[in-house]
Parts: sequence; structure tokens; C-alpha cells
Amino acid sequence: MSLPEFKLLRPRSVDEALDCFAKHGGNIRVLAGGTDLIPSMRQKLFEPEYVLDLRRVTTLREIKPLPDGGVEIGSLVTLRAIERSQFLRQHYPVLTEAAMTVASPVLRNMGTIGGNICLDTRCLWYNQSLTWRKGCGFCIKKDGDICHVAPGGTKCWAAFSGDTPPALLCLHAEIEIQSQAGTRRVMLSDFYTGLGDDYRRLQPGELVTRIFLPSSSAGYQGVYRKLRVRGSIDYPLAGVAVVMKRSNGHISDARIGITAVNPAPLLVKGATELLSGKQMDEALADAAGDLSARTAKPLTTSALTPEYRREMIRVFTKRAVLAAAAN
Ligand SMILES: Cc1cc2nc3c(=O)[nH]c(=O)nc-3n(C[C@H](O)[C@H](O)[C@H](O)COP(=O)(O)OP(=O)(O)OC[C@H]3O[C@@H](n4cnc5c(N)ncnc54)[C@H](O)[C@@H]3O)c2cc1C
Ligand code: SF4
Repeated sequence: MSLPEFKLLRPRSVDEALDCFAKHGGNIRVLAGGTDLIPSMRQKLFEPEYVLDLRRVTTLREIKPLPDGGVEIGSLVTLRAIERSQFLRQHYPVLTEAAMTVASPVLRNMGTIGGNICLDTRCLWYNQSLTWRKGCGFCIKKDGDICHVAPGGTKCWAAFSGDTPPALLCLHAEIEIQSQAGTRRVMLSDFYTGLGDDYRRLQPGELVTRIFLPSSSAGYQGVYRKLRVRGSIDYPLAGVAVVMKRSNGHISDARIGITAVNPAPLLVKGATELLSGKQMDEALADAAGDLSARTAKPLTTSALTPEYRREMIRVFTKRAVLAAAAN
């Protein structure tokens, strides 16, 4: 599958990148590591007139501990750099664990944290070649007007399938978004829409530039568990992140995030209330598993059945909370 024709723009700074948006108008796609964008362009899922290659923007490649104890991570920091950062491993281990499971080492050398956050949603009927999709009459997410997953509906249910966002949600991450209109900071939990097609709140001309983790989320035990077909490389088909703090044998705070089973990564509502103040045991871990499984709404967007993926959310949540409490 060949790439469609496009013009390559290679800015050296964020300002130059934002100028490119202003100069060349709407039909631009941002390229960070390109590990998802390029295969998607080969499948003709995106046929932009311009590709804005950010790889020369060196100011977005830093992991900077902040004086208040939090950390700032540039959106172009690779997943490999996240994995190797001693600071992140020591203070935010759930992010290290999640980053280590993305794709394969070669892809983690190229793939960035910003690209992982902005990752397109995935579906069996969408991540296919043009010929394949044409043969099926296309679908709502691209070029068509029906959904093969929920026929008769008008919504797209493609699943968000990034590994680091559930960990970042557990850490109460904020992201910085820049455009020529200015800079804004939003909670990552407000970035995703919950729709499979229009899945993120990012306007044309906007770039995700930095991720901030607060000091209040530092020092939590962190665990990430993931279901995939091939252990060495695949996207998650269900994923669970858990952070937990304990004192005197009791859980003082905990959060659970899930991915790949809904059109957005989600924090499990009620998990903190369920776990806080308790001592971990099998019954509590089972209750946490049940709560996560109720939040997961997988559909037939992947090769594994929705029933199996939801069950694995239950199983992984139970294992993850037990592991976090044992650390
Ligand atoms: C075989 C294979 C296996 C994979 N397995 C996994 C997996 O297990 N888990 C997983 O999470 N991912 C997986 N991926 C996807 C991908 O490698 C990662 O998600 C990676 O983090 C994407 O980052 P990137 O920098 O390469 O993004 P890119 O491909 O460059 O971009 C991804 C999307 O984000 C947009 N974008 C990127 N950066 C910005 C920014 N700063 N501002 C605004 N928009 C931006 C791009 O326009 C594009 O739409 C896999 C990919 C392949 C090919
Ligand atoms: S969920 Fe439906 S509309 Fe969305 S990509 Fe899949 S088949 Fe297409």
C-alpha cells in the first residue's frame, strides 16, 4: 500500500509549527513519531495535503521535574524515553509500566507520548485498506453512513486503544494545547469526547505541546495490565491502570483507569470511594473488578469478543489492585 501524495512541512519550533497551520489552512495532519499516522495514511484513512512533521521541534522532547514536585513532559518525548526515565519510574511508576507495554521496542523508539494521547480510535471495520473498506460499503467513521458494529445506529463506537492515557488519567494529568489564539491547559479527562469518530477535543490549528503530572499524584504504587493478541507488539484490546497509596495497612487513596473497551479511556467512577479506607482482600478486589467491568462497554470492534474483553477488565482489575496493595 503506497502513501498518498502530500507536502511535507518541517518546522523547527512550536511558533513555526503554528505558523504552518495559519499559512496552509485546514488540510494538515500532525506527525510526531508517525507510527500510527503513516500506516493509517497507507490505508488511505487520512489523505492530507500537508504533513506537519514535528520531529525537529526539540523543545518538546524534555522530561522536566518541577520545583513543586510535579513534572512536565514534552509531547514529543518518546515512549522509550518515558520507559527509561528514572524520575518517572520512581515517582509515577504506573506511567512507566503502561509505556513499556506499547507496541514493540522499535515502535517505542519512534512513538511519542503526545501521539499516544492523540491516537485515533480503532475498529475492525475501519483499520483496513481502502479496497477492503470499499468492499464493505465503508462506514460512518470514514466515507460511509452505516455502522457495521451497531447497525441502525448513527454513532461510531470505535475503541480508544492507547496504553498510556488510562495511567495518565489515574495520575490526574493535565495537557497543554497551543494554537495561534493562545495556550490552554485541560484535564486529560476532559480531552476525550466519548465518540468513536470525533474522539478528541482538538480544534484545527491546535497542537498538544506538554503533559503535566501534579506532585499530589507522585509516590503512588502503580500497576498496568493489558490484553492483546500478540504479547510482543499489539494494541490493547482491554487495559487497566491502577494507582494506590496506603498507610498503616489501609488504602488511603486509589484510582482505576481503563482503556480499549470504550471510545475513550476512562477513570472508573466510584473506585476511589470503594477502595479508600479499606484493607485489601479478595472480596474488595472482586468488588473493584465488578465496578470496572460495569464501566467497560466493549462492542465487536476487534478480533476478540466483547464478552471476553469485559471479563478480562474484571480479571485484570482484580489482579492489578491486589498487586498494587502488595507492593
Ligand atoms: C504494529 C503496531 C502496534 C502498536 N501497538 C500499540 C500499543 O500496543 N499500544 C498503543 O498505545 N499504541 C500502539 N501503536 C500505535 C503507536 O505506535 C503509539 O500509539 C504511539 O505512541 C503513537 O505515537 P506517534 O508519535 O508515533 O504518533 P503519530 O503516528 O505521529 O500520531 C498519532 C496521531 O496523533 C496526532 N498527533 C501526534 N502528536 C500530536 C500533537 N503533539 N498534537 C496534536 N496531534 C498530534 C497525529 O496527527 C495522529 O493523528 C502501535 C502501532 C503499530 C504500527
Ligand atoms: S464502530 Fe461502526 S462507524 Fe465506527 S469504525 Fe466501527 S463500523 Fe465504522
